[in-house]
Formats: sequence, C-alpha cells, structure tokens
Amino acid sequence: MSSPHIAFIGAGNMASSLIGGLLAEGFQTNQLIASDPGAETRSRVAEQFAIATTDDNAQAVAGADVIVLAVKPQVMKAVCQALAPQLSAGQLIVSVAAGIPCASLEKWLGDVAVVRCMPNTPALRRQGVSGLFANARVSSTQRALAEQLLGAVGIYLWVEQESLIDAVIAVSGSGPAYFFLMMEAMTEAGAKLGLSRADAEKLALYTALGAADMAIHADVDAAELRRRVTSPGGTTEQAIRTFEEGGLRNLVEQAMNNCAARAAEMA
Ligand code: NAD
Repeated sequence: MSSPHIAFIGAGNMASSLIGGLLAEGFQTNQLIASDPGAETRSRVAEQFAIATTDDNAQAVAGADVIVLAVKPQVMKAVCQALAPQLSAGQLIVSVAAGIPCASLEKWLGDVAVVRCMPNTPALRRQGVSGLFANARVSSTQRALAEQLLGAVGIYLWVEQESLIDAVIAVSGSGPAYFFLMMEAMTEAGAKLGLSRADAEKLALYTALGAADMAIHADVDAAELRRRVTSPGGTTEQAIRTFEEGGLRNLVEQAMNNCAARAAEMA
C-alpha cells in the first residue's frame, strides 16, 4: 500500500511514540489522525506533530487503512463497541493494549482483521521491542502495515500462537523493569563501596547500555561473552559465583513464570 492512512484512537504516550516514529520514518502528516477526548492532549499532539486531531473516534476512522487502539485497557470495551458500526471492510485494527485478547476485540468489533501488539516502554525512545500476533483475517499486506507501524518505534517479532504473547510480556513487556531493578541494586552497592551515588549510577547505566550493545552485535551468545570476561580466579568470577550460588537463574525463571501467569489471568 503506497500511502496508508492511520487513525489513532487515544493520543497518549504510546500513540505519541508511534506518531513520532512514523513521521521520523517519512510518513506525511496528512496520513495520520489522532482522536482523544482530552482537549489538552489534542492540542499537544497537534502542536508537536502537526497532524489532524478530533474528539470524534468515528470521524478519525473514516477512510483509515489502519486503526490503532491506544486507549487504556479499562475503556477498550466501550471504545470498540462504539466504533464497531463505523468500520469498513479492509480496515486493520492494531491494538497495543496490554491484556486484551483478540477474542474480546473480535466480540466487540465484529469480524475484523486484528493485530495484537505487546510493545514495551523503550518505544518512547524508539528503542522498543514488540511481540505481534495476527488473527486469521489479517492479510500479508496488513501484516506489512503492522510491521511499518511497530518498526517505527523499535524492532518487532511475530508469534504464531496468541498464548505466546504472555511469554513476550514476561520477557520484554515487563523486562525493562527487571533491568531497572538491576541498575538500582548496582547503583546502591556501588555507593556502599564508596563511589558517589551519581558516579555509581552513571557507571551502572552505561555498563548496561554497553553490555546490551555488545551482546546484540556479537557473533556469540551472552553466555559466551560472559565466559570471555570471567577469568579463572579473577574479580568477575567472584561476582558471578555469588550470583550463581544465590540462585539468580532460578529466581529469574520464577519471576518470569509468575509474570506470564498473571498476564494469562488478566486476559
Ligand atoms: P495514556 O493514558 O497516555 O493514553 C491513553 C489516551 O486514551 C488518553 O490520552 C485518553 O484521554 C485517551 N482516551 C480515553 N478514552 C478515550 C476514548 N473513549 N476514545 C479515544 N481516546 C480515549 O496511556 P498509554 O500509556 O499511551 O497506554 C495506551 C495503551 O498502550 C494501553 O492500553 C497500554 O496497555 C498500552 N501500552 C503502553 C505502553 C507504554 O509504554 N506506555 C507499553 C505497552 C502497552
């Protein structure tokens, strides 16, 4: 599709990241429209991105190829039920709402093509990673549209079973918080070792960034990178042994199992 039109229902944080990403990727302002009941939100979006805004969801979706549902999960049912009669054939629905399965969206919207996405918060800095699931009505052209949309705020991958979205939530959806916790703990421990808090924090954060960048670009896996920096009898070995003996791996597995179970329960 040459110049797809995209309507955003809800113009908050996630919609703004996507809009910013699409414009940076070369989308034209007249391809995008955002609908939101908040007057302040609408003026912020209009000012920041120079795209059309409205408080009427029906007006936003008229003529759109893709409709991005970017409202909070609590209001999704009411928003979808009101939108259902306004939809036309061939439109793709993309939901970024956590915890709303395709079956619910289909029940509220009718027989529509739906892509359910699980982005994560680094999408706000176009460094996100999203898991995507398409229902059976999504065409290959529509898959490509969803890829363009989520690709504008980071990278994406498809899962072929919807239940795997719970696993995506456990790894990347909630994952930023795991690394924030590690950064917090390393900062605190560094400060206890005598560094200023600011220095400890800078060292911890840039180490996380450098390690992730190195692991992404290496031709070996993280386990091998770790082995390469762990000399026998050295300093790193002391730290790694402490993590292993303390049961870090089991703890991570348990935490992610609990996260996925909660995601399944909420869906
Ligand atoms: P937000 O509160 O910033 O934005 C939601 C917007 O929806 C608000 O501006 C609100 O005024 C608007 N809204 C409320 N009722 C509406 C209606 N009837 N019609 C149109 N708009 C309406 O929330 P957010 O952080 O952007 O989250 C939006 C969705 O994205 C949520 O479902 C959330 O689960 C999902 N999500 C967000 C993130 C993130 O990083 N922020 C990550 C993953 C998933």
